[in-house]
Amino acid sequence: MLLKTILNRIERHKSFVYGEDRILAEEGQLVIEIEVQARANGRPICSGCGHPRPSYDRMPEPRRFQYVPLWGMAVYLLYTMRRVNCPTCGVKVEQVPWAEGKSPLTTSYKWFLARWAKRLSCQEVARVFQTTWEHVFRSVKYAVSWGLAHRDLEGIEAIGVDEIQWQRGHKYLTLVYQIDEDCRRLLWVGKDRTTKTFLRFFRMFGQERSSQLRFVCSDMWKPYLKVIAKKAGQAVHVLDRFHVMAKMNKAIDEVRAAEAKRLERDGYEPVLKHSRWCLLKREENLTEKQAVKLSELLRYNLQSVRSRLMREDFQQFWEYFYPACAAKFLDEWCTRTMRSKIEPMKKIAKTLRRHRDLILNWFRAEGAVSAGIAEGLNNKAKLTMRKAYGFRTEKAIEIALYHQLGNLPEPEFTHEFW
Ligand SMILES: [Zn+2]
Repeated sequence: MLLKTILNRIERHKSFVYGEDRILAEEGQLVIEIEVQARANGRPICSGCGHPRPSYDRMPEPRRFQYVPLWGMAVYLLYTMRRVNCPTCGVKVEQVPWAEGKSPLTTSYKWFLARWAKRLSCQEVARVFQTTWEHVFRSVKYAVSWGLAHRDLEGIEAIGVDEIQWQRGHKYLTLVYQIDEDCRRLLWVGKDRTTKTFLRFFRMFGQERSSQLRFVCSDMWKPYLKVIAKKAGQAVHVLDRFHVMAKMNKAIDEVRAAEAKRLERDGYEPVLKHSRWCLLKREENLTEKQAVKLSELLRYNLQSVRSRLMREDFQQFWEYFYPACAAKFLDEWCTRTMRSKIEPMKKIAKTLRRHRDLILNWFRAEGAVSAGIAEGLNNKAKLTMRKAYGFRTEKAIEIALYHQLGNLPEPEFTHEFW
């Protein structure tokens, strides 16, 4: 079968025909070149305005457009661009249907690379398909901007807002997710986690869509609380389980660190050494070694251990069915904790009291906001950040996050390459 026959099936453009093909060796690699010619009766498209215009002349050299590789060989379409004489734009290079702008990559190849970059890191895609990191990244960027321009934002009822740390230090991104039962995806990424950041999301989202939101989930970060009250006041605002428990774990960690220091200073045995995970993880997730460590720790009257017990006690809060019962439990837990003399835990109790209504909204949401969603999306975002080690700028991380989590649409292809 001729390459031409295949191309006419998968990449047909009516004003162009495929000509000769050849195999060349370039830098020790085999590459395939296929010539493309314009049909004599077809008029070139002006790249300025997109209208067919009379041909003016031809560029002196053919241009190479990289296509999807075949059997480990790079494939190029070779075409001598025409220039048009456009009454509106003047003399312009034509626009060809298999590529956009000045891109040396065909659109098919860009989508091919972008799709692979969902499964592998950009470095890996570049290596596997013998191309550069820049080409892969540019393809991802292209796919993301196409997807963002074509996605549907109608009918969104539940959103969640979350922050994620990037690089070391205190740089944050704000992530907004759609968390409806039937559609979970990243909607928006913004720099920082300020009031201004989150307001920018609502500006993009628009007033009408915001007024149709029924549930908004967040952690206890003040700027978020403020913006939600202002921009989606009609929605039930839920402080979700994942964020509340994450906050509690942070407090336990603080207690442990301070206590370990105190023990050392007072010349006691360093019993808290290597205890971090056995204190933070839940019983059923402990490794055998951690379980042994924990039972060892339980022999001592340690603040760290007591804090952990308070958290375990708090877990049943989420199991209540009636908001009133949950409220009673919450109040009692806070009272007990306030008597504990453990400062970080007392601080948690105060925070929970302050946000009592928003936390109880968890029960009013009646399962519309499930426990795992926020955590699942948060983990996936963290994983994407880790995988995106080639990405140093905030903009690039943003693109990687949209690509992995945005569930963005793609155009219809005449041919699926896998
Ligand atoms: Zn024009």
